[in-house]
Amino acid sequence: MEKVLLVEHDKCTACRICELVCSAKHAGSFNPAKARITVATFLEDNFFFPLTCQQCEDPLCQDVCPAGAISRDAQTGAVVIDDQKCIGCRMCQAACPFGAIAYSSSEQKVVKCDLCGGDPECVLFCPWDAIKYVQADDAALRRRKAVGEKLKKALQEVRL
Ligand code: SF4
Repeated sequence: MEKVLLVEHDKCTACRICELVCSAKHAGSFNPAKARITVATFLEDNFFFPLTCQQCEDPLCQDVCPAGAISRDAQTGAVVIDDQKCIGCRMCQAACPFGAIAYSSSEQKVVKCDLCGGDPECVLFCPWDAIKYVQADDAALRRRKAVGEKLKKALQEVRL
């Protein structure tokens, strides 16, 4: 069975270790700007939310990509970008309701979470257990959907 990332935002302290280990894994340096996970911080509400790809069932990013560069990894279930095909138009970035796709100006291509091929670093290193990688059973999928809806709503409010 596939696995999914589940965020328990009430456990997150915004230490941002997930950003550091993600950038180290994917970009070879401890640089949050190069991470594929971002901790959204709402200090006045004491609300922190590690934001990354929800690996949507029907990904809008895949629908809008004119280069056919986005597909689902059959093994991990991650929505992945083929950087050989990506033309850097950033349509997927605009379409993502979670702000989960980043643009690498050095490579002139987009980057996103690929679940580290099935062993996510953010899960391994989060000292607060705020990110879990669990079997994608019905309960986990329902919880992920609920978290996604909550996140989408929070992001819409921020953008108003
Ligand atoms: S930036 Fe790349 S992956 Fe995104 S829509 Fe354009 S070609 Fe597709």
